[in-house]
Amino acid sequence: MRPPAVILTVFAWLALSAAAGEDNPAPPAEDRIDPTEAVIILGGEPTPGWPVLPASETEYRFKLKLTGDIVALRWLDLDDYERARVQKLYGIETRGAQRVFGEKITGTRYLLKNGKRIAGYRLPERDWAAQKALKTATAPVLYIPESDIETEETFEAYQSDFFSPMEVYQQWLLAKPPGPNDAAAHFAMAQKVSNIGLFDKAIDHLKMATVIDPGMEERNKDFFATLVQEDAKRRTLDLYQRMLLAKNSGDFGSAFDFLGQLDRNFPNSDFKTRWDGDVRREIEVGMKTATIKRVIQMSYSVAADLVQQRLFSKVRVDDKGNVIPSIPGKQVATRAGHILRGTLEIADDGSSAGTGAAGTDLVLRIGEVKVTISGRDIVSIRDVDLATSGKEIPRAFDDLKDYVTDTGRPDGLKAQMIARIAQTLREPETKVKEIFNSRLAREATYKDGVYKVSPTYVTLHDAWYGSGSWLRDGSRPGNQKRAGHVADTTDDPNVWWRFQSTETQLAVLRSMAAEKVFKRKDLYKLPCPNCAGHGYLRAGLERIRCPLCRGIGVLFKMTYQ
Ligand SMILES: [Zn+2]
Repeated sequence: MRPPAVILTVFAWLALSAAAGEDNPAPPAEDRIDPTEAVIILGGEPTPGWPVLPASETEYRFKLKLTGDIVALRWLDLDDYERARVQKLYGIETRGAQRVFGEKITGTRYLLKNGKRIAGYRLPERDWAAQKALKTATAPVLYIPESDIETEETFEAYQSDFFSPMEVYQQWLLAKPPGPNDAAAHFAMAQKVSNIGLFDKAIDHLKMATVIDPGMEERNKDFFATLVQEDAKRRTLDLYQRMLLAKNSGDFGSAFDFLGQLDRNFPNSDFKTRWDGDVRREIEVGMKTATIKRVIQMSYSVAADLVQQRLFSKVRVDDKGNVIPSIPGKQVATRAGHILRGTLEIADDGSSAGTGAAGTDLVLRIGEVKVTISGRDIVSIRDVDLATSGKEIPRAFDDLKDYVTDTGRPDGLKAQMIARIAQTLREPETKVKEIFNSRLAREATYKDGVYKVSPTYVTLHDAWYGSGSWLRDGSRPGNQKRAGHVADTTDDPNVWWRFQSTETQLAVLRSMAAEKVFKRKDLYKLPCPNCAGHGYLRAGLERIRCPLCRGIGVLFKMTYQ
């Protein structure tokens, strides 16, 4: 048995240090901060910073980006996968518990001026422009500028140190491919590749052998069974490691997918305990947190979008100006490019017969026909008004205000916002609503002298009533006696509204949403710049109402979350 590679590396490193010590008695290893920013998972948190070189066999040091502190950490505290990744950042190439295989070859190790060490198999024929070419365990060719190299040494290694099993297998195939009628050669290759962990390739070669020589099948039943078992184990571990990697990089969606694949494909695996405990809980919590974060982050932009859509949508009126009730319908776009419009069919129990969400079927009534649209064909579903008679006019202020501020309305801004987020994230509306409503709630614990508060994902946004400040609840326009343009003299919001720019209208509606759908944090009363906060202006002997603030003297601005 050969000692594991990690130990070899460490021995070589100690030997190097000792040699250096003899020649130059004074200088201890000088700390160098690697200029490349890295992220290391510390206590489950992705932590940015810079590696401090060199690392020892038991410890490594890391300069935290957040505080600038240099912390010493133990390799032991990292999980296997993360450790291998981080050791590479410190110039330590490990091959972990991987089996040694292949031919004996000569490895080359460079100690670089920046403190890193790189070992590999020299490819002198590929040296280029004063750079040394090296095949390493992770790169097909790595170029190292000669000017970066402090010292060079060679050591005895195996192909497995720098070549993947697949690379070694391909070398074998090139050197001596098994003949098409040579059962013994295929059988030998099956044994050889099973030794380097390529069980799927071993299965292929064994199958070839049994096709050529059917007698082989019975004789190698156990071997075949072992290969199948080992192949399943390897694929399980592969999925497991990809799951850990996704989890550690904060990609809980992918981690959750891998977890699902493991559950489905390998329900009886001996390794199940590895992903059934803390790891599963962590991923589920991570998924939940990710959903909470997305719901809250999306709410601001979805609400702003809906307000704008509502403002730009028209109402239908008949010749006398009476509103024609809308016929709420759905417009479905299909993968084949068809557009289907109809009313959502309601099932006997009062629920809609399929929502089309998450790939379920949708049932639309189009004229007299009930059409079931397969969820797989649906690309998008949106609400439309099926009423077609009359003419379209912009919505009145009262209509828009009611849409924004009545949070109990099933077709109001808040309900539509919840519905749209639920549809995008493929989560139930009740869950999205619950997350949104409790977005400001926080929990804290105090334990062992440490106060810990749960994170919050709300962010602060601005809203600005501007010249619409007089429409804010509790504001009253001042008295106006003087004649003038109706937009300045009217006290009817619906009349005033029609003369305002889209920008002003949007600002007012968004401010209303900020106070009713979201939660206002700070309210700023800015003195009106037009009348210096007096609310009135002098015009000769007359005192006229300020057209900007309409007599209230202030304009409202606020932050909300
Ligand atoms: Zn004013």
